[in-house]
Amino acid sequence: MSVGAIICYLKSLSDDEIISINKYWTLNDSNKNEFKYTLTQIDEQRDPKCSRVSVLVNKSSCLINNPAFFCKVCKQAKPVKNRTELMARLRLSSFQCQECEQKQISVLREESIKILRNFISDALKKTDYFHRLSYIDKLILLTMLFDNYQEKKPIISSDARLNITGSENVDIPALSRLVKIGALVKIVDLPEEVAHAETKFHESSLTTVSRLRRNRYMPRSQRNQFAIERGIYFSLPLGFNNSAEFIEKIYNDIVSGGIAANEVTDLKRMVIDMRIENFYRLIDHIAHDFNLEISNSVPLSALLSHLAERYPITKCYYTFHRYAKEVVLYMHKNDPPSYSRCHLFTKFVSNYT
Ligand SMILES: [Zn+2]
Repeated sequence: MSVGAIICYLKSLSDDEIISINKYWTLNDSNKNEFKYTLTQIDEQRDPKCSRVSVLVNKSSCLINNPAFFCKVCKQAKPVKNRTELMARLRLSSFQCQECEQKQISVLREESIKILRNFISDALKKTDYFHRLSYIDKLILLTMLFDNYQEKKPIISSDARLNITGSENVDIPALSRLVKIGALVKIVDLPEEVAHAETKFHESSLTTVSRLRRNRYMPRSQRNQFAIERGIYFSLPLGFNNSAEFIEKIYNDIVSGGIAANEVTDLKRMVIDMRIENFYRLIDHIAHDFNLEISNSVPLSALLSHLAERYPITKCYYTFHRYAKEVVLYMHKNDPPSYSRCHLFTKFVSNYT
C-alpha cells in the first residue's frame, strides 16, 4: 500500500506471520477503497505453521499518513485495528479520538449542570416574605409541605392535578397569593440558555448511557438528578436554614392561634367556599341519578350558599334526593312547560328551607 501506511506489530511475530499481516492491510493498487487480498486468499497462501490471518490481525494495527488517523484535538496518532475501521476512517476528512470526545462530553455536561443548578438556586433564592404570611397562607403551606417535602423538587408537578383543600375555587386564589408573596415559585418555561443546557445535559446522559450499555445502564435517578422538573416550588424565606425549621415555625404559629379577627372571617369564607363546591358536586350527582335538568341559576347559587353556611352536606343529600323524586313525580302528573322544568328542583328545595 502506497498511501504512507505504517503497520504496527503489537507482539513479536515470525516472518511468515508478518507476510500474512502485511497482505491483510494491503490495499488494491488501482482502487484504494478495496483490499488486494481476501482473507481466504491470504490463508491459502500462508505457511502451514502460521495461524489464520483473522487471529493474527489482532497482533497488529495500521496507521496511514492522513488527517483521519490523527486526532484533531490531542493530535495523537490513532491507528485502526481492523479493515472495517480502516475503511470507515478513510471516508472521514477529520477525526476525533474517543478519549477526547468523552472529555468534551464531560466538560459540556459539567457546564450544563452548573447552569441548571444556578438557575434553580436563583429561582428559589430566599426573600423576605415571612412577615407577610397570613394564618391561611401558613395553613396552606403546612398542608403542602408537611408530607414528604423534598428540597429542590416541585411541591406540585405541572402534570399533577391541583388538590389542596379539595376545592379549586379555594386552591387557585390561595396559590396565586403565595406565588405573589414569593413563598411559591412557578417554573414552567425555562430561559433559552437554561433550556439549551438541559438539552445538552440530556444528550450527554444518553451518550454516556450508550457507552455504558454493554456493562450497565446509568441509573435513572442519576440521569434525572439535574433535570429541572416543571411545577410549583417552595422557596424558603430569609431567616430560615431549612424547610424543617420553617415547618416547625408555621406549625407552632398555627396551633398557638395567633389569628386576627379579619383572618377568622377569611378562614370561614374559605371553608364555606369549599363546602359550596361540594354542594355543586352533589347537585351534579342528583341531576345525573334522576336524569333531571337543574339550571345553574342565580337562585340555585343563593340556595347552595345558604345551605352550605347552615347545614352539613350529609343532611342535604337526603333532602335533595327526596325533592328530586318529588320533582320527577310532579313532572309526570302535571307535564309543566319545558322552560320551567329546569327550575323546578331549586324551587321545590327553596320552598322547604
Ligand atoms: Zn484525541
